[in-house]
Amino acid sequence: MARHAEIAGGGMAGLSMGLMLVRSGWSVRLHERSTAIRESGAGIYMRRNSLKILQEFQLLEDLRPRGSRIERTFVFDAAGRVHQQRETPGELDLWVFPRQALIESIERKAREAGVDVRLESTAVAADPAGALILDDGARLEADGLITIVPHKGPIVTKVTVRQAESIYQVRGVLEGLAVRLFTVRASEAQLERLERAADTLERVYKKFEANAFLKAKSDFYGVLLEGADNEVATSMLRNIHIRVSLLRATSLSNPGRAKDSMKEIRQLLTAIRARDEEGAWKACMKHIENATKAALAVLREEQVSSD
Ligand SMILES: Cc1cc2nc3c(=O)[nH]c(=O)nc-3n(C[C@H](O)[C@H](O)[C@H](O)COP(=O)(O)OP(=O)(O)OC[C@H]3O[C@@H](n4cnc5c(N)ncnc54)[C@H](O)[C@@H]3O)c2cc1C
Repeated sequence: MARHAEIAGGGMAGLSMGLMLVRSGWSVRLHERSTAIRESGAGIYMRRNSLKILQEFQLLEDLRPRGSRIERTFVFDAAGRVHQQRETPGELDLWVFPRQALIESIERKAREAGVDVRLESTAVAADPAGALILDDGARLEADGLITIVPHKGPIVTKVTVRQAESIYQVRGVLEGLAVRLFTVRASEAQLERLERAADTLERVYKKFEANAFLKAKSDFYGVLLEGADNEVATSMLRNIHIRVSLLRATSLSNPGRAKDSMKEIRQLLTAIRARDEEGAWKACMKHIENATKAALAVLREEQVSSD
């Protein structure tokens, strides 16, 4: 199930975020108020973390011929004497690139990956639920990655213990329904696709990588909801799954959870394959209860350590 983001600002931050989200399976629309994506100023120095990001975007090779690697830095005093001299030994320690070349490369990659870049589109506000408001009055709904705190501004959405409990309660009811419907309605082909999605999930669990994991989970639920064939449950669960994905990293940081989670999904599949509606529902409930316990334990611990 695709999640959707609306981004205000086509600078380096907005475009990079858009590119990362699209690569993680999100649909992204980006609003830039100017008539073109452009940078002001000449060069920009980039250190290790930023260079690693360029490497991750596969942009570094394009940019290298247009940039310069800084091999040594000097600090001079007022009389022109060298006050400090430092080597930058690593190939990826410090580079300088023309700003416009950098932004154009990121823009090209972002557009190629599927970011919908809208020029002359100005954001005027974002409401507390995270929807973006444009100057023509349009209110664009997005998927709750950012929460607007009144008088403070945007923050990355954080889920409290209380909210997590509510999310998992609703997830239990809706996902239980989807599993029941899938068990009785899904075609043989859909069941096979669900099993293959579970195989992929298992492979990702073994060699964990966050983006691949979130994609595998999203594919698994995509098939489940398609087979359940209930539009209303699908749209409600879509909203719940966005919130759950914010918690997944939390529940999986609980040792042993990944392994148990996979075992529970296999039990669920066995019941579905036997077209055992009641058994599938029970397996689904057990999976959600255990995921809830794991996520809440970690969230409570985090709350205690930040109190
Ligand atoms: C003089 C100077 C030198 C610097 N040197 C370095 C350096 O050497 N190395 C380094 O790493 N960093 C450097 N920085 C910092 C770096 O340039 C910034 O951190 C970076 O450009 C910020 O990117 P951004 O995408 O967050 O914002 P911006 O580049 O400011 O992009 C914001 C974009 O949003 C658009 N926008 C704004 N409001 C709206 C709206 N309401 N609706 C729609 N669009 C909107 C703007 O038109 C703009 O395109 C320097 C900064 C300055 C000022």
